[in-house]
Amino acid sequence: MIHNDHPRYESLKLREKIVDAYKKGILAESGMIAHGRGEAFDYLLGEKKTVNSEKAVRAAAAALILAKNPVISVNGNTVALVPNEIVILADDLDAKIEINLFHRTEKRVSIIEKVMNNAGAKNILGTDHEEKAKIKGLEGPRANSSREGVYIADVVLVPLEDGDRAEALVKLDKLLITIDLNPLSRTAKTATITIVDNIVRAIPNLIQAVHELRNVDDPTLHQIVNDFNNQENLDESLKKISDKHTGRVKP
Ligand code: ATP
Repeated sequence: MIHNDHPRYESLKLREKIVDAYKKGILAESGMIAHGRGEAFDYLLGEKKTVNSEKAVRAAAAALILAKNPVISVNGNTVALVPNEIVILADDLDAKIEINLFHRTEKRVSIIEKVMNNAGAKNILGTDHEEKAKIKGLEGPRANSSREGVYIADVVLVPLEDGDRAEALVKLDKLLITIDLNPLSRTAKTATITIVDNIVRAIPNLIQAVHELRNVDDPTLHQIVNDFNNQENLDESLKKISDKHTGRVKP
């Protein structure tokens, strides 16, 4: 039992969700380690949204609204933390949801599919009873993508992705949006738009931004996407971390 006046209440609740997801077979062991890395960066960033993450969220929302074929690619961590919010976002955008796991097993895919169906998802892609197409530059089961999903998508939202797959998707000319608390990760640097924030805040913020921008004209949306500079935004996020902590500690 964690009392809600505990200073690390939110963070500890997320840990509980992650451990619970591991016990239910949603997450692989390495998913818990990945969460730990994210948690460390969240701590450094102050555990709330920043001006930079808001800028990235706005650009991401504009790109997703403009997309002809948007796909949200989900892994164990995403499904452990924000299954309902992913379904809301996908419905709002008329986007497809595709399962892609680093440590793929038939059992984990089927557990995740059930969780997403219970959250209200209508047509989950990336399952085992479906024809796959290979993504160039990747090996093993991770190279598989759904023919109706990531393979033909123009805009892909891939939260908490690993660097190799992010690079391979960008090489295929997809506009890649990621959510990653580590502004130094290969994925963060490779993506077209990186939201440096915790997925539990980033997805609800993205849902809100989509609502705000959905009636905006296309040229304005294109302008919002084109004005966004990912490297600049990542540099500002890193600066935010150092500004926040430099000089605070007394000798
Ligand atoms: P890369 O190959 O891109 O350098 P990596 O090897 O550092 O990535 P992975 O373990 O593949 O990392 O993916 C986990 C990433 O997700 C980490 O960068 C971590 O900071 C981030 N992360 C973990 N939990 C969250 C979360 N709740 N919200 C946002 N980002 C998260």
